[in-house]
Amino acid sequence: MPLTEVAASLYAWDLADETVERCLDNLQALAGVNSAYLVGLMHKEKRPLHARFYPHNPVRKYYTPEDSRAYWTPDPAGYRGRIKPLTSDRDFLRGTDWLDTLIQPARERGLKTGCEISHTVIDADVARREYPDVLQRDAFGNVVGTFEAIEAQRALPCLNNPDVQEYLAALVTDLVGNHDIDFIQSCLVMFGSGYSRSNTVGGAATASWSDLMATATGGCFCDACRHKATAAGLDWEAILREARHLAIVHSGRDLEEAHEAQLLRESNYSEAELLLEYEAFASWLSFRRHSIDDLFALVSTAAHDARPDIDFRYNTYMARPELAGLSFSSAFEHVDSVRESDYSDQLGTDEGVAIKRAKLMRARRALGYDKPLLAALGVRPNATPEILRASVKAAVDSGCDGLSLGHYDGATMERLRAVRDGMVEWEALESEWIHRP
Ligand SMILES: [Zn+2]
Repeated sequence: MPLTEVAASLYAWDLADETVERCLDNLQALAGVNSAYLVGLMHKEKRPLHARFYPHNPVRKYYTPEDSRAYWTPDPAGYRGRIKPLTSDRDFLRGTDWLDTLIQPARERGLKTGCEISHTVIDADVARREYPDVLQRDAFGNVVGTFEAIEAQRALPCLNNPDVQEYLAALVTDLVGNHDIDFIQSCLVMFGSGYSRSNTVGGAATASWSDLMATATGGCFCDACRHKATAAGLDWEAILREARHLAIVHSGRDLEEAHEAQLLRESNYSEAELLLEYEAFASWLSFRRHSIDDLFALVSTAAHDARPDIDFRYNTYMARPELAGLSFSSAFEHVDSVRESDYSDQLGTDEGVAIKRAKLMRARRALGYDKPLLAALGVRPNATPEILRASVKAAVDSGCDGLSLGHYDGATMERLRAVRDGMVEWEALESEWIHRP
């Protein structure tokens, strides 16, 4: 099957700085892009992410966004709960619906359009001040953050909290109901996977008990989770007891537990044995998984109620999604398409391409063969043109239906050209299959 969709993400500040015309001109002409989407709700992350400075922004060298702002104009009538979307206070961004700014010219060019709700949907500072009860908690009651240092005071909302669920449904309903988009893409951070290592770039590496144990230092153990788990017949006290013990063993915070951790590290302990030994902890892992399934069902229902033909696309960004509660096979029953957001091209090695291929195979198997799978390509300077062409081959090898470039802001023109070159080289387009005498 051909790679029929070539998508590309854009940020509001890209459109403000470069103009939407220049962004789309470059993406279409160099990489054959036929689908453009706005990262409509963006987390606090310095741009560009890997390089220190933008390669082609004519206005600024880099940008540090506000936390979790909406870059469209939210319909206030749609948000009846406690949590409301925040918009930008930056002068050059405020007051403009950047999604419509992208959609109109994209439609004139015949492109597909979409919008992404990225990793986080609440401003951590505001949430800690105004609705701390909706935040994920660890087994000791501390707020659980995202990937950064604990001192960063980040915060994740609990996906089992009814106020958070209402807010998520409202975001999706607003975007799908009030904007001319073909797909709504979610890249939401799930349950905090604990302090092990980065759960984003790279592969699954060693499938050790240590990363699984680290989930006991993550989330969630809040009141909403306790209510839901207890109602489902789980023994919450036993879960807390085991999770607290495992969290202290993992962190080595006390002498007895640090000693136990030493023995484990020097032993041939396994993930399977950990799950057999800590039955309550294992039941909590299963509970998280079913909670994530419920969340996917909720988002899908909200999207399809707003417009039946909308494409709900999940953008999976984790090296080990299961540590955050995401089981592809059950959660993907509720999606219409998947973007496998692997950027291992950024390693610049053949091993990175192999990681991408493996992740795509995993997603393909869980998604089945009737729903589109798009392979992300990291079109940024750490990936060479050769590596990007090999990544296109990995997409072809694993039965993908499209590509999705991340991200234009950090891309070089040479990397964009490599996408189109790779599609020609690996015969990814149907037009390459037709002999012209
Ligand atoms: Zn919770």
